[in-house]
Amino acid sequence: MNPASTDTANGADHGFSAQVNRMFDTAAVHTDHPEGVLHQIRACDNIVRFEFPVKLDDGSIEVIRAYRAEHSHHKKPTKGGIRYALNVNVDEVMALASLMSYKCAIVDVPFGGAKGGVCIDARNYSVHELERITRRYTFELIRKNFIGAGVDVPAPDYGTGPREMAWIMDTYNQMTDDDLNGLACVTGKPVGQGGVRGRTEATGRGVYYGIREACAFKKDMKALGLDTGTAGKSVVVQGIGNVGYHAARILQDEGDATIVGIAEIEGAIYDPSGLDIHDVVAHREETGSILDFPGATNLEDSSDALELECDILVPAALEGVITHENAPNVKAKIIAEAANGPVTTQADTILTEKGALVIPDVYLNAGGVTVSYFEWLRNLSHVRHGRMSRRFEERNAERILRAVDELTDQNFDEKLMEDLVERVGFGASEEDLVNSGLEDTMAFAYEEIRSEREKYGVDMRTAAFVSAINKIAKSYADMGIFP
Ligand code: GLU
Repeated sequence: MNPASTDTANGADHGFSAQVNRMFDTAAVHTDHPEGVLHQIRACDNIVRFEFPVKLDDGSIEVIRAYRAEHSHHKKPTKGGIRYALNVNVDEVMALASLMSYKCAIVDVPFGGAKGGVCIDARNYSVHELERITRRYTFELIRKNFIGAGVDVPAPDYGTGPREMAWIMDTYNQMTDDDLNGLACVTGKPVGQGGVRGRTEATGRGVYYGIREACAFKKDMKALGLDTGTAGKSVVVQGIGNVGYHAARILQDEGDATIVGIAEIEGAIYDPSGLDIHDVVAHREETGSILDFPGATNLEDSSDALELECDILVPAALEGVITHENAPNVKAKIIAEAANGPVTTQADTILTEKGALVIPDVYLNAGGVTVSYFEWLRNLSHVRHGRMSRRFEERNAERILRAVDELTDQNFDEKLMEDLVERVGFGASEEDLVNSGLEDTMAFAYEEIRSEREKYGVDMRTAAFVSAINKIAKSYADMGIFP
């Protein structure tokens, strides 16, 4: 049984929330905050569970169960995706909402954590049915005051994307008087509807930056018997949905890594000489499956891919896929948690004892919410971040050329030149700005986690949680407790 799929309440021994709380407790030992504050940080503030009817295309009525959990209000709004999956349950949304709080703190994005879920397999519904479900879900959130630019801001997650976010925004705008800030009630919207360029790939791109930072750290790579850098490293990716696909694509195209294995619902494929991610995606579009990709070996059982020989394993689908049962067989030296909670606590201990490096979800997949923050800010400020005007670019080019003319061989300084180019922001498009902000955020957070790791002699997950706990505790220390 998937350990994360049990419908247990927060605080029970099993279940996803209990696992996250155990990770929290392991880290809390390295802090000195009062027990009451730690308890408040861990607790889930608000949760709604509702059921609503939806009329299907054939005229029948189906009752749909859905949730939204707001884990922490130490910062407002609360923020987190909405997932459409059959195994959504109260324990899962609470766990995922708490991970959002810690994730936001780690990358210094000023939101509390939240998460929503609708218990459906989106593949079983027509587009019209999905639209009705999404709009009714949004309506319920409005009624319960669980959505709004300063209240709680949803985003895409497993099974949802820009299309659903546009429906949410439209429903919100039809149903409320929040005319000025309506755009900012949800992020991950299509670019023409207030979304920012780069948001769709942001989680996957952030995963790449995080892996790149980890692979640049000589001490860790030496301990793993690997060279520094992502170039030439063999990678297995589980799940080529939005997160896994972009992570794999950027690892291959920008990181020069070799994708040797890909797992999906229908099975997995393996080719130690390398699989081109673009070709695999084209093959899947054509045949409906990744299986039978030319030159690759089929693995009928998709989960076997987790045990393939590789340097980096990227679980990018759902939680609880690496457990105490398969962890002993995992051969990857680096486990990069692109999904939320893919490694259970027992499996984490096994992997760490084996000497593997686990790059934790709370850090590694924070790219999505980081760029959601940029989108939210843009929506609130009503500023357009388009490409610079041609005249502006030309003026910049002239300024650079004039400055270069003034430089002689004696005073030529590469650093000065770089500073100059950076200062005038030559040619930066919105996507460049988004990506550079994301890159900077991931690099900075990695450095913080690395120094906590050194300080306490702990693994990367514990260090990430220490960082999150300290930042949230500081909020409570500064704000005090109401009343
Ligand atoms: N669903 C994503 C996550 O788990 C993004 C959340 C957001 O952008 O608010 O991090």
